[in-house]
Amino acid sequence: MKSTITAADSAALAAATAVAADKSTSGTVRSSIAQEIQFVLGGRLPFVKRIETLVRGYVCVSMFFLIRYGILECGVAPTVGAFAVMYFVLDFYSGVLHVVLDDDWNMNVPLLSQPAMEFQYHHHIPDDGCSRPFVEGMGDLNFIVGLHLALFTALFVRGGSQDFMLLTAGGWKMVLAYWGIWNHRQAHQLKSKRPRWCTYLQNNGIMLSPAAHKVHHTPPHDDEYCLLGVTTWPVTWLGRRNLGSIFWIALFLGLTALDTICASRLLSMVFAR
Ligand SMILES: [Zn+2]
Ligand SMILES: [Zn+2]
Repeated sequence: MKSTITAADSAALAAATAVAADKSTSGTVRSSIAQEIQFVLGGRLPFVKRIETLVRGYVCVSMFFLIRYGILECGVAPTVGAFAVMYFVLDFYSGVLHVVLDDDWNMNVPLLSQPAMEFQYHHHIPDDGCSRPFVEGMGDLNFIVGLHLALFTALFVRGGSQDFMLLTAGGWKMVLAYWGIWNHRQAHQLKSKRPRWCTYLQNNGIMLSPAAHKVHHTPPHDDEYCLLGVTTWPVTWLGRRNLGSIFWIALFLGLTALDTICASRLLSMVFAR
């Protein structure tokens, strides 16, 4: 993917240098500098330019799924039911993805290396996302949303093009993923720059609160992984079990392939006419 150096990259590089310098002057040998800092000092960019057109396309497709196959085919109540179920499914998925990308080992795994570096770099510069346009933050999901879209489409076509609930649940998973990105951004946003409705929702437990997310930004960064905050406990509990990198990658891939299918089957049974 084509990369350009932005103001955010320059700031990140300066911060990396500062972090490294601080560790060096505090008596720590250079080899103990965090791997993500070493990558940036070695010339890798902590933020890769995203394709904004893809983001806009994915949002349109998600909305099309929800309106065409959700409201018009399944009905309003099943679509609302799918929202409720997928809220938990997406939150758990976001937590598992976060555990995978916060794993040092994955900074050396193909495909996971760049996002893992970006996630761990974010621990050093918590408000980095606020300095980028929101569409850029949404673009962080381009690969994973594209993967989901390909999977949903293949399953839909293979299933005789009648599995409307699958696309409804899939539409919610994608929309809620973008909502999660917004939640995270506002958890880091200065209160003076944050929309008042977001502060209201944060104060009432509907959006991720800055206080809750700050827990994740406190070493050892092993709590509050989830973007929506309703499945925090099981992810934190599992994350502290020392289950290993392979377990988490397998869980992530398993959920990617199956969570929406299982949720849509359950919803189809509940709302069967
Ligand atoms: Zn993290
Ligand atoms: Zn954060």
